[in-house]
Amino acid sequence: MAQNPAPGPTRQSRIIGALLALHAGDSLGATVEFKTHAQIASRYPSGLRDIVGGGPFNWPAGHATDDTDLTRAVLIAYKSRRESGSADFDVVKAAAENSLAWFDGNWPGRAPGELPKDVGNATMQGLDKYRRTRDPERSGAGQGSAGNGSLMRCLPTGLFQSDPELLVQESMAISKITHNDFRCVVACAVYNSIVAALIRGNSVDDAIEAGEAVAVRLEKRGGGEVYKSVQLGKELKISDMAQRGPPRSLPGGCSGYVLDSLTVAIAALLDQRRLEDVLVDVVGIGRDTDTNAAIAGGLLGTRDGVESIPIRWKEVLQFGEEFRAIAAFLSEEEGTG
Ligand SMILES: [Mg+2]
Repeated sequence: MAQNPAPGPTRQSRIIGALLALHAGDSLGATVEFKTHAQIASRYPSGLRDIVGGGPFNWPAGHATDDTDLTRAVLIAYKSRRESGSADFDVVKAAAENSLAWFDGNWPGRAPGELPKDVGNATMQGLDKYRRTRDPERSGAGQGSAGNGSLMRCLPTGLFQSDPELLVQESMAISKITHNDFRCVVACAVYNSIVAALIRGNSVDDAIEAGEAVAVRLEKRGGGEVYKSVQLGKELKISDMAQRGPPRSLPGGCSGYVLDSLTVAIAALLDQRRLEDVLVDVVGIGRDTDTNAAIAGGLLGTRDGVESIPIRWKEVLQFGEEFRAIAAFLSEEEGTG
């Protein structure tokens, strides 16, 4: 194997890179959300390379959509836990409360009471239920609702929970607030285990292996569907998918099924091109472009660090500065909560 004497990104750079690349993927993909790969290719022959806003919800350039907003809801829960200084702080409940505030119109960038423009079905059902029960264990949309709406927001647990077992538990519990389908819950635990391994400086292959081990353990009595979706991600090439659209092996056609998004994110993580080119191609696959690019972006930013994200992207991100500040605050000390 070739020796690589250049040091990888610092831990801090990986953490900030993860958050900003998720945000950048979301904001980049928002312009062409729901469009097919053919429509995107004909409008942007070299790929959509700039964050320009617009799209079906007419976003300002760099605005967060639900993916970044709900990641922020989880991120702020971890910030609150650190501020509380208490090991008993309920980060799952805090994530649920922050998500409900977003849903009910208490959110920066929107006038008070103004509701979010784009809310997934399970997220809507889950947060409606949570408003009544105030119990994150009893608020999920149920088995069968296997959208990518919890995978898209799960990243902060992978970045800020350093205990591997608590990471799995918190990833699963935060998914269940809205997405308690077993596939969604396991996908979040697998994704965050990969993130945490990358943060610790593991190679991409070793990080994926760490994710697979979690899938095998959690799916012991399941069908192994999450494990299989990771395997599929090792076989598929992002550039092929951007050229031809989602292959038949992706059962949901990249339209929001959680395991399609996980497969694409694994394929992106294994794509050795620079982050910009990989994310442009993830968007080029089409359909749920913003969420697929947000989920893939979280892994790519962890792999390559904040320096790998184009400056012209970083300049326009709505929550770029806030995410940097929270990440710096949460990375100050290691090994706590
Ligand atoms: Mg979105």
